[in-house]
Amino acid sequence: MATIHELYALIAREIEQIKASKTYKFEVPIESEQDGVVRVDGREVVMLASNNYLGLSNHPKVKEAALRGLREYGYGLASVRFICGTQKIHLELEQKIAEFVGCEDAVLHSSCFAANEAFFAGLLANDFGLANYRDVIYSDQLNHASIIDGIRLCRIIARTTEAKVYPHRNVAQLREMLEADEKEGYRIKIIATDGVFSMEGDLAPLPELIALARRHNALLFVDDSHATGVLGPRGRGTAEALGVFGQVDVITGTFGKALGGACGGFIAGKRELIELLRQKSRPYTFSNTMPPAVVMGSIEALNILMTDTSLVERLHENTAYFRREIKNLGYTILEGTHPIVPIMLGEAALAMDMSVELLKEGVYIKGLWYPVVPKGEARLRAQISAAHTREHLDRALDAFRKVGRRFGVIP
Ligand SMILES: *Cc1c(COP(=O)(O)O)cnc(C)c1O
Repeated sequence: MATIHELYALIAREIEQIKASKTYKFEVPIESEQDGVVRVDGREVVMLASNNYLGLSNHPKVKEAALRGLREYGYGLASVRFICGTQKIHLELEQKIAEFVGCEDAVLHSSCFAANEAFFAGLLANDFGLANYRDVIYSDQLNHASIIDGIRLCRIIARTTEAKVYPHRNVAQLREMLEADEKEGYRIKIIATDGVFSMEGDLAPLPELIALARRHNALLFVDDSHATGVLGPRGRGTAEALGVFGQVDVITGTFGKALGGACGGFIAGKRELIELLRQKSRPYTFSNTMPPAVVMGSIEALNILMTDTSLVERLHENTAYFRREIKNLGYTILEGTHPIVPIMLGEAALAMDMSVELLKEGVYIKGLWYPVVPKGEARLRAQISAAHTREHLDRALDAFRKVGRRFGVIP
């Protein structure tokens, strides 16, 4: 048994160990708004690490809408939704985001993390009047932590739930698992996947997953956090990019990335499912409502996107430009179309040292290494934005040329 004094000593030792294993996460504070360039230590640096894909974080119209929200609807509501935390603007945002992602209805949560924690238990903890049943969730191996935790939580709350992990994007393997399970007589089957995987910038094979789900009576759940506002000609997400818009059963996502970058999440799907989740989601029932300024800012972000695709187009152009030019410098990237551009380096120490040097040369970028990605696959993750001008991107590329040569990574 540890005394409280000993407990704190153990905690301190744990922190030292995190530092020794080089997995300690340091924060580099920025001194400006989020934008294509930001101020760090009084210097302007090109931001290549944010999820501010469309530059809406400090868009004048979004800020103005948020101010209007603050003035007209107040700072906060001091209530969960169902007590007295619902304003008309919350309902308006739910309708708007549902339409945007191609679903019938949507329910807001305080974050997408909360939405994913809510969804699985909110659905599978209902017996629906049945006595003997088992449910199963098939989950992509590289799914986001919030999906993994959502499934874990569900398995504790609803012990009738089983979880099976399929290899990353491996449709053939998933098909085999579903076929083998036909005889099991599961009540509810869910296939759960990220729309875009944040470490790789690659897309879930949605057309194939939709076909599999239909064939095996499974519900397809897609967390489109890195794709809403990003992928597809209108920014409607992974389904739009892959030609299957409106065919995904359940979509979760965030207002904390492309759609203004403040906070808040949602679950979208069929009307009756959303109505049930409003009753059964514990994070929805027991956690505060979204603040009016953020709701109004998010509505405005969607209004901008629904009337004008120029930001999405600029994002796609910038992404194609950066992907082409970073390869021309001699770097190896993971091929794709998403503004997440993984620049592969191999060793963790190299990624770590290069990110430090790049910051000195005016580029804010983060490295990823084991255990976040497999050993030997350390990388820098660049994230491109519509907020970048061509000049910003060229400045970043210049720094990549200089630092890459210094480290002998490129010729
Ligand atoms: C960022 C992200 C989340 C978390 O969203 P929050 O709204 O910040 O909680 C969840 N899922 C995926 C796939 C993400 O990329």
